[in-house]
Amino acid sequence: GKERSPGEYRLYRPSTVHLPAHEMIALERDLHRALNEDGLRLMLQPIVTADSQPGARVTLAGVEALVRIEHPERGVLSPDTFIPVAEASGLILPLGAWVMEQGLAWLADATRQGLDTQTIAFNVSAREIHAGGLVERLAAGLERHDLAAQRIILEVTENVMLEHDSVVRETFDALRALGCKLAIDDFGTGFSSLSYLQHLPFDIVKIDRCFVGEVHTAPRQAALVAAMIEMGHALGLSVTVEGIELHEQASRCLASGADHLQGYYFCRPLPAAEALARFITL
Ligand code: C2E
Ligand code: MG
Ligand code: MG
Ligand code: MG
Repeated sequence: GKERSPGEYRLYRPSTVHLPAHEMIALERDLHRALNEDGLRLMLQPIVTADSQPGARVTLAGVEALVRIEHPERGVLSPDTFIPVAEASGLILPLGAWVMEQGLAWLADATRQGLDTQTIAFNVSAREIHAGGLVERLAAGLERHDLAAQRIILEVTENVMLEHDSVVRETFDALRALGCKLAIDDFGTGFSSLSYLQHLPFDIVKIDRCFVGEVHTAPRQAALVAAMIEMGHALGLSVTVEGIELHEQASRCLASGADHLQGYYFCRPLPAAEALARFITL
């Protein structure tokens, strides 16, 4: 790979720089094609609330928008592969705009059809914040689809905040002034999650799924998750735990006070077209 300064290295996901150049070029071409030839797919995954009693009712709190590329030869490409390339190339801007427009349209449609979902969460990359115009685009989309800003959550990971410039702060303030909520995603996996919680106006913390795998069997992991939930609450935040695959993991997190859960145990991400029918029965 090319020489990069440490600062530049950390701005995007480290995986970008480990891809061979020819693969990055191929992915960038795939992205271009997906954007121009209807190759992007919007997936939605429910975020639920539940009671800790066994057999308790699960209710839909909201959904998270997750994008895929449907590649003509290689099938479905995962965002973990192409988002870093999208970020490095700048294609994250049209991609993010596409996801947001599709997600808002889905929410408006789902609401008209009677689905009782409150929120939709969008993942936002550092590059989208630094490019400017995100708040205006979202405001225009909300107006066009006649949706309240209170139903929008923007999820950011820590690499958004690595640059301590005023753009991030101003964007966050503008998003909150509009009425949106802010979530810190993949909490606990970065270098300094705690310091960001201290300085930036988050509403929600999403505990990364790497803390959940053994939460029901390993006391140390259970203690860590419980402490993170307690800390989130002490700061007045709502806490979501990601990556719930088992009933036991769900009960353990609920017993520790988690407000929302997300994971394959409840539902995998579904294509937008199927999501409505499935979520209505959740
Ligand atoms: P994320 O925002 O942390 O999203 C959660 C990821 O965990 C999703 O992976 C989801 O499919 C997966 N997941 C959910 N439940 C479970 C579970 O029970 N077990 C396991 N093993 N995984 C689970 P996905 O869809 O592959 O997305 C990966 C990442 O790509 C996302 O992580 C997000 O950071 C990024 N991403 C996805 N869509 C977008 C987008 O539209 N824009 C941007 N900027 N990033 C996106
Ligand atoms: Mg997310
Ligand atoms: Mg996450
Ligand atoms: Mg993630």
